[in-house]
Amino acid sequence: MSHRMFLKEGRERSVELRHPWIFSGAVAKAPQGAEPGETVEILAADGAPLGSAAYSPASQIVARMWSFGPTPVEVGQDFFRGRIAAAARARGVEPGTLADSKTACRLVNAESDRLPGLVVDHYGPQLVCQLLSAGPERHKDAILAALRELFPGSPVFERSDVKARAKEGLPTRVGPLEGLEPADRVEIEEDGLKFLVDVKRGHKTGFYLDQRQNRARVAKACVGREMLNCFSYTGGFAVHALAAGASKVVNLDASADALAIAASNIQLNGHPDSSFENLEGDAFELLRRFRDSRRSFDVIVLDPPKFAETQGHLQRAARAYKDINLLAFKLLRPGGRLFTFSCSGLVDEALFGKIVAGAAFDSGRDVLVTGTLSQAPDHPWAPGFPEGRYLKGLECFVE
Ligand code: SAH
Repeated sequence: MSHRMFLKEGRERSVELRHPWIFSGAVAKAPQGAEPGETVEILAADGAPLGSAAYSPASQIVARMWSFGPTPVEVGQDFFRGRIAAAARARGVEPGTLADSKTACRLVNAESDRLPGLVVDHYGPQLVCQLLSAGPERHKDAILAALRELFPGSPVFERSDVKARAKEGLPTRVGPLEGLEPADRVEIEEDGLKFLVDVKRGHKTGFYLDQRQNRARVAKACVGREMLNCFSYTGGFAVHALAAGASKVVNLDASADALAIAASNIQLNGHPDSSFENLEGDAFELLRRFRDSRRSFDVIVLDPPKFAETQGHLQRAARAYKDINLLAFKLLRPGGRLFTFSCSGLVDEALFGKIVAGAAFDSGRDVLVTGTLSQAPDHPWAPGFPEGRYLKGLECFVE
């Protein structure tokens, strides 16, 4: 018989509404003898079956739902094949060979795709996966077998070097799971533009796929204009801006490695060295230096890392967002545009709007919000899992 986990009275509601996380405080009776990642049946206090979940005894999120409803699921290769195929199709990707693929896309977005803790991206034929919690860790072989069936011939590289694994008591792990180790730079195309991706060491699985449609949007505003790409990483926004006809881009990032790839990406797309400037350093400091030297730009992109990791960091994060947005508004030439983002899930759209409004006010500029921006469609969220909606952005016009 399968392991059973009973919830406290009244704690079944969020599960009924299809939220996939069971917090340890909601549990009345932990399953006896269940191992990390094993499938447990979740039951309401009155014994009503709520679904099947992966057990994470080390984490505060003590179980993550694989399925909802009274019928338990068998979590194995068939299950993963079905779920991964459904996730691929939601992105318009038909399972099959990726041998001729040049594009990149997130195929599986964890909780949002009913596969808690599992991320699968593809960069051309190369698959890159992250196992973020005990469930996918335990079922790694079944996941790999399902990927082999769905995407025959594709090499699979594991990038389980994420902080979240420590909370699950899992070590970090990086290396090939299937096929050869990828090259140091994997080349992909996005909207016909070329990018080099470091899938072995880069951020996330190597590329910020979630910004794809925003890069196209920013590019449109850059025709004939000078753009400051703050927190540039490998120059995604810069390459799109130059292709659209930007007169110049300035990439600013704290990482020399990211900036080196940004330079390669710009060159790979045929732009001369005079088309860009790379500045390595702290954005908070460099934006101040620009302000003091009265340097200005037509378009500014602010795409910082997650400033708010926990609720306790929220105030400090809000101040940091306000600071860089205020500086950016001051640096814009009349008629310029700011594209400002936050990927902190804890900073919701309303709060982000308030922070940017505060910065606009303090800058003394006349500002109009000309667009609201979100994550690319290959980073969907499930209606019952609002945490999946983490990236938000505003396009602001400055008179
Ligand atoms: N806009 C990028 C993704 C940005 S990720 C894209 O579209 O690909 C955030 C980037 O901020 C990382 O490259 C990281 O190196 C950089 N970063 C983090 N803290 C920073 C700081 N204080 N100053 C400058 N860059 C920083």
